[in-house]
Amino acid sequence: SKHAGRNCYRFFTNELQVNAQNKKMLSDDLRRATYENEFILCYQPIIELKTEEVAKAEALVRWNHPSKGIIWPSQFIPLAEEMGLISEISSWVAENALKQSILWRSMSGKERPISINTSPLLYKGDPAWIENWLQQLKANHIPGNMITIEITESLLMESNDSIKSQLITLRDHGVEVSIDDFGVGYSSLSYLQELDIDVLKIDQSFVKGIESGNDSLALCEAVIVMAHRIGLKVIAEGIETAKQHELLLEAGCDYGQGYYYSKPIMAEEFTERFITQAPL
Ligand code: C2E
Ligand code: CA
Ligand code: CA
Ligand code: CA
Repeated sequence: SKHAGRNCYRFFTNELQVNAQNKKMLSDDLRRATYENEFILCYQPIIELKTEEVAKAEALVRWNHPSKGIIWPSQFIPLAEEMGLISEISSWVAENALKQSILWRSMSGKERPISINTSPLLYKGDPAWIENWLQQLKANHIPGNMITIEITESLLMESNDSIKSQLITLRDHGVEVSIDDFGVGYSSLSYLQELDIDVLKIDQSFVKGIESGNDSLALCEAVIVMAHRIGLKVIAEGIETAKQHELLLEAGCDYGQGYYYSKPIMAEEFTERFITQAPL
């Protein structure tokens, strides 16, 4: 009825206002959080499929909000990008992941490779971050190849000279470059030729379907063959079952990541389970 329609409309308007208010509150909080470092890093192991040993750890950021508790990256990374805070947050992530890797090395006497996520916006801002960050690597005697930078296909799609030169500088220092969520973007494959990429991470949406006999397994197999032919390693994301692990191992995939091995966990737990203990 007309009446319900009006109510509905009013409700909708109120909801929009509430959302706008929430967003304003969250933005104010996020600005403060950025300057007071209210973030934490979780780590998820990346497993070598053949040996089932931990090859790397991916650092995943969370916001530890003083009253709201843990807030997931999907709820604040886009906001941080919109607010121009992503460089600050990224530097915090890069610096802290580096500290963790140094700590793990000192505990185990072994280099501990870490993979970090980078927002496309990072490469569009002040390129000074690269020099700063490479200096930190050097000062701590961390070989560049202990760090992998994860980028998304969208970055490569709009890749200009500045972005390319930043990626080249990183690679010149041995830092590995990995394409995150491979297969869900709209870009062509030509960038794989143009830029020196090291790793493809097959998006979890493909891994999800491989047990159910649809085309997902064929797509994963094709990506793995193609990647290997051009000298890239492959990580399958979102592995949740033993069967998925098995199928991807058979398909020749190099690495896997997912709840089947471990959820992202706090650094202390990661240390207990994967650094000071025997492998998996
Ligand atoms: P991503 O880089 O693709 O990270 C993988 C996401 O999948 C993580 O969600 C992880 O918890 C989740 N995941 C891992 N294994 C499984 C599995 O077996 N099943 C399922 N269903 N999910 C799994 P998370 O931590 O919520 O991160 C979401 C996204 O936020 C990340 O996606 C990444 O794009 C972004 N992000 C996280 N940390 C950072 C950061 O430090 N900087 C930037 N720029 N983005 C970040
Ligand atoms: Ca990632
Ligand atoms: Ca991913
Ligand atoms: Ca290469």
